[in-house]
Amino acid sequence: DTFEEASLCESLKRNVSKSGYVKPTPVQKHGIPIISAGRDLMACAQTGSGKTAAFLLPILQKLMADGVAASSFSELQEPEALIVAPTRELINQIYMEARKFAHGTCVRPVVVYGGISTGHQIRDLLRGCNVLCGTPGRLLDMIGRGKVGLTKIRYFVLDEADRMLDMGFEPDMRKIVGSPGMPSKEDRQTLMFSATYPADIQRLAGEFLKKDYLFLA
Ligand code: AMP
Repeated sequence: DTFEEASLCESLKRNVSKSGYVKPTPVQKHGIPIISAGRDLMACAQTGSGKTAAFLLPILQKLMADGVAASSFSELQEPEALIVAPTRELINQIYMEARKFAHGTCVRPVVVYGGISTGHQIRDLLRGCNVLCGTPGRLLDMIGRGKVGLTKIRYFVLDEADRMLDMGFEPDMRKIVGSPGMPSKEDRQTLMFSATYPADIQRLAGEFLKKDYLFLA
């Protein structure tokens, strides 16, 4: 029961141990191998379960293995990974964890969320973005302004999917998934996390995930 089994590269291993994580939590132990193997996943996991590292670590590992180009200055950023969560607090936690793990690598995470002006976020985006973390409305705003394109997305994460539905974000989620150039579910890896698994979430999983997706409770 160590992170050795996750076969992470040296810089990720170093950042994990700097975080003080010694033993993977259950969602990490079971989720990381599934995600590393490239499978789509629907996971029932609460906040506090360690789900953030469960999806971030294999995604960062894959981005480095894929050899993503170090992000660079551009008016239009085309990230390889997209992480969507319903609230500013949650997406910020995800972003902070992504920054911690990506430290010293060529992968650059950026966060965008509503409730504050777009200026700073746009300037941050301009400097490069491999992993875009965002709340649904602000993501659509950035896409609409031509700051972000989704044509290169290989990894797509919907976190706290049940809360996204509760907060009325279903149309926004559909717009993101259907935005111009966003790879189809066959051409990306999609991961959904939700505390609960009601019929609505099952339906959404059927819509956004490949037919042979795995389920983790
Ligand atoms: P999450 O469920 O992803 O919001 O994580 C809950 C908290 O647990 C966060 O503060 C993480 O930093 C921490 N955490 C995640 N994984 C581990 C681990 N394997 N060992 C110790 N702490 C962890």
